[in-house]
Amino acid sequence: LMRLYGPLTSLSNVHVDVMTALVSFDRVFEVLDLKPMVAERPDAKPLPEGPVTIEFDDVRFRYPAAEEVSLASLESVARPDTGPNQEVLSGISFTARPGELVALVGPSGAGKTTITSLVSRLYDVTGGAVLINGRDVRELTLASLHDTVGVVMQDAHLYHDTIGANLRYARPGATDEEIWDALRAAQISELIEALPDGLDTVVGDRGYRLSGGEKQRVALARLLLKAPRVVVLDEATAHLDSESEAAVQRALKTALAGRTSLVIAHRLSTIREADTILVVQDGRVVERGRHDDLLISGGAYAELYRTQFEHQR
Ligand code: ADP
Ligand code: MG
Repeated sequence: LMRLYGPLTSLSNVHVDVMTALVSFDRVFEVLDLKPMVAERPDAKPLPEGPVTIEFDDVRFRYPAAEEVSLASLESVARPDTGPNQEVLSGISFTARPGELVALVGPSGAGKTTITSLVSRLYDVTGGAVLINGRDVRELTLASLHDTVGVVMQDAHLYHDTIGANLRYARPGATDEEIWDALRAAQISELIEALPDGLDTVVGDRGYRLSGGEKQRVALARLLLKAPRVVVLDEATAHLDSESEAAVQRALKTALAGRTSLVIAHRLSTIREADTILVVQDGRVVERGRHDDLLISGGAYAELYRTQFEHQR
């Protein structure tokens, strides 16, 4: 256990957004007050200000074996098909330049979520490198990585704390007004206004229980408040009703504008706008390009389009 995770006296801010990507482990972390330990190098440097380019250079990845992460016996039960030695990503290379939107599409289990989790260094690669402005993410301080990358995943994680505190993790100095602006943009302000304790409402398993879609909108508000240079997003539509979807979509567009974005795209509108679409299958990028070109070439994307996206027209 100690090899990958170390106890902390209090949950460090460093992994707040990074941990939104942790689906099955989050409760364990909440209870045990642990954080993932990708170690920070003693000579780690902060990332200088300025526009951000993300580059995956021949990235390979396999999840740590269950005995390495301990407590993860739950995990191996949940994933009988994935042995610890199975490579989940094989030779992933791509570049997202400043302001570009890179969309990941592909069947379930292809490795899309795993790719996004490596940007915020939730795990370390087992081969190749993830680079930000030419620097290996392992050479950056965790604090600067946390400041640079904002993550909203499908199963958004909120802390057992007030809604206000959950948002201030993203920007400690934020005023109530700024928080309400973000909540409004994310289409969640009305619900929170209606709660007796408003921003002071404690959320989580032992507090007020938000639905999956509500949690995702709070996480989105947190992202809008943070306005990070890099946005990583699983735009899962399942949680959102069609009414709020259009408004959330507008808020997302604002959040993504001018930022380097990596989006697991479920909406045809996002895919059409993407500067590059990466078609991921079995841990590899099998096709890449823009929507129109990929459609014409009649390969894996065209097939995926027919089965998953065409009905959204
Ligand atoms: P996608 O997001 O494209 O659906 P994922 O990145 O979630 O795919 O999963 C890719 C592969 O990695 C799948 O075989 C999945 O079972 C496995 N996997 C995902 N998360 C974990 C984990 N925490 N531990 C072990 N295997 C995992
Ligand atoms: Mg996924």
